[in-house]
Amino acid sequence: MTTNVLFLSTPKRWAQYQAPLMRALAATGLDFQLSEDLPPEEVEYIVFAPAGRGVDHDFTRFPRLKAVLSLWAGIETVVDNPTLTVPLARMVDHGLTQGMVEWVTGHVLRHHLGMDAHILGQNGTWNQIAPPLARERRVTILGLGTLGSACGQALASLGFPVTGWSRSAKSVEGITCLHGADGMHQALACADILVLLLPNTPATRDVLNAETLAQLPQGAVVLNPGRGPLVDDEALLAALDSGHLAHATLDTFRVEPLPPEHPFWAHPKVTVTPHIASETRADTAADVIAENIRRGEAGEPLLHLVDRSLGY
Ligand code: NDP
Repeated sequence: MTTNVLFLSTPKRWAQYQAPLMRALAATGLDFQLSEDLPPEEVEYIVFAPAGRGVDHDFTRFPRLKAVLSLWAGIETVVDNPTLTVPLARMVDHGLTQGMVEWVTGHVLRHHLGMDAHILGQNGTWNQIAPPLARERRVTILGLGTLGSACGQALASLGFPVTGWSRSAKSVEGITCLHGADGMHQALACADILVLLLPNTPATRDVLNAETLAQLPQGAVVLNPGRGPLVDDEALLAALDSGHLAHATLDTFRVEPLPPEHPFWAHPKVTVTPHIASETRADTAADVIAENIRRGEAGEPLLHLVDRSLGY
């Protein structure tokens, strides 16, 4: 029996993913058909990374559909799709994880070492102030999943005291793990640098607001490679303008691309990166997709399933 896989994305991504997916699916030993254009009644698995909003897709067109396999780690645009009644898997790809570890570590080190003063502020003054060691700079990560844990462990290995916060109780080597409402207060209070790596769900929206920003230490730095709606933009700008926060480095925004007139672009204490903290890498992600299709065909549980009730 042939397993029919539809690649539902853009022509550009098809060009990137076709060969790696062919290779990875062939390695499973399955007899398969992979195409960006299959008759809907034949489709059994969808590799999903649409150009528009996933919630706008009508999955009832695919009567034999067994699972939707997202190429993205964040699945907030499809998770509420009422026509999606089969399992939804998100992407956990070690290439994606490595990219996020590098982005977070780089931006933490920029602020920790005070690099801007030397890159932007050379004025002939021999101002010999050595930065503190990592052990004196506390980092908190909100979200201790695949990405938050990996970033936290990388920072801990450099000597930063790392605290992480999640919904459920966790234990991650090298990281002080907190959870729940009390845990959040404690996690924020020791965040000289705060990293947001939560998913965008109804429970996490505006998690960084006037009240929670006020719980950060004076002079804290915020990094948001998670999702734009995690942050109340007005409250963040107010905390920067009042001097309570020293800087915000933002990779994700409520509206993307970030409109040219948005105050973040011109704010002296904001660094904008255009949602490039990390991305799924075709060569490594293809193995994850193929493994899930193999599991689906073997009747084994799929990896990285989304809990639709929690939204991640
Ligand atoms: P995971 O699902 O592995 O981890 C999510 C973490 O958030 C878990 O620790 C989870 O807690 C925690 N969490 C979820 N809801 C809550 C809540 N209400 N309160 C407290 N903690 C909560 O996701 P990933 O680590 O793979 O990815 C995280 C996010 O990173 C993605 O959803 C996406 O938005 C973003 N991302 C950004 C990219 C970029 O380039 N900027 C690239 C890829 C991803 P628990 O452990 O208890 O379940």
